[in-house]
Amino acid sequence: MKEDKENCIFCEIIEGRSPVSIVYEDDKIIVFPTIEPVTASHMLIVPKIHAPYLADVDEETTLHIIKIARKVSEAIRKSKYQCEGINWFLADGEAAEQEVFHFHFHVYPRFKGDGFGFKYDRSKNFIRTTRQDLDHIANEIKNLL
Ligand code: ZN
Repeated sequence: MKEDKENCIFCEIIEGRSPVSIVYEDDKIIVFPTIEPVTASHMLIVPKIHAPYLADVDEETTLHIIKIARKVSEAIRKSKYQCEGINWFLADGEAAEQEVFHFHFHVYPRFKGDGFGFKYDRSKNFIRTTRQDLDHIANEIKNLL
């Protein structure tokens, strides 16, 4: 299955079986520039344990990833690479365009004219929402927290 540890490119990197250019590493995570960057200095933050989805990553590691993402963002802003803004991006599940099924968190610089963007056809899903709709949505999610 696509979620299996066998043939997982990130596990290969973590286990030293594939080359990597390490930016940061500790007992929980590894940070490296992706081979398919949106823009130069596009980083991936990857937990060392094979965890296909966000739900498979424990809370402590998730918080650690966010903490390191903040530091990596600051470093990118100080670097020589063009950076007018930063995107953090997480694809959790195939419908969200996850392609490697070992959880990873993207941090990449953005600038005007970089060619990257999210496409969204508002005619497909756009529904004018009322306050009542928003209250209903808020209650649904609140009850599941
Ligand atoms: Zn893996």
